[in-house]
Amino acid sequence: MLQVDLRELSGGAATTHAELGAADPLFEGLGLVLAGPVRVTGRLHAAGEGRFYWQASLRAQVAGECRRCLTPVPVAVVADIRALFTQDPDALEDPDCYPLARDATQIDLRPAVREELLLAAPQWVVCREDCRGLCPRCGKDLNAGPCGCPPAGDPRWQALAAFKGKSRD
Ligand SMILES: [Zn+2]
Ligand SMILES: [Zn+2]
Repeated sequence: MLQVDLRELSGGAATTHAELGAADPLFEGLGLVLAGPVRVTGRLHAAGEGRFYWQASLRAQVAGECRRCLTPVPVAVVADIRALFTQDPDALEDPDCYPLARDATQIDLRPAVREELLLAAPQWVVCREDCRGLCPRCGKDLNAGPCGCPPAGDPRWQALAAFKGKSRD
């Protein structure tokens, strides 16, 4: 449950568990492809006048893609969430703070889940450190072996490029 009634917090902390499907509209527009549900578990507690502190952990599987060779790369994303929900407008300069209306009766934790997932997911993945990528000319996966294109700077390639350039005119 990621929408918590503030009355639940009068007796102390509330436990928050949730499993959000990969197709949940919350994750739209993040530019991520989720390979499974996003699991969140944590505790929300009152932290003084109009302030509520949420401490949680997030787990997700992202379907990444090697930036060099485009092979699918599953990425496990694990993140700690520390978010302060506050009715104090002065506290909102802090990026970990989320606004709460003065007359709020519940806290919606989902914006913090979205934000933390975006921050924790790697923007750049490679299938392995020494991935050779695709040949920029013929597109062959160079991890499978050389493609037969002359190397850059090879006079044969330059001659070929010049020839192709002329034949296009
Ligand atoms: Zn790769
Ligand atoms: Zn090639």
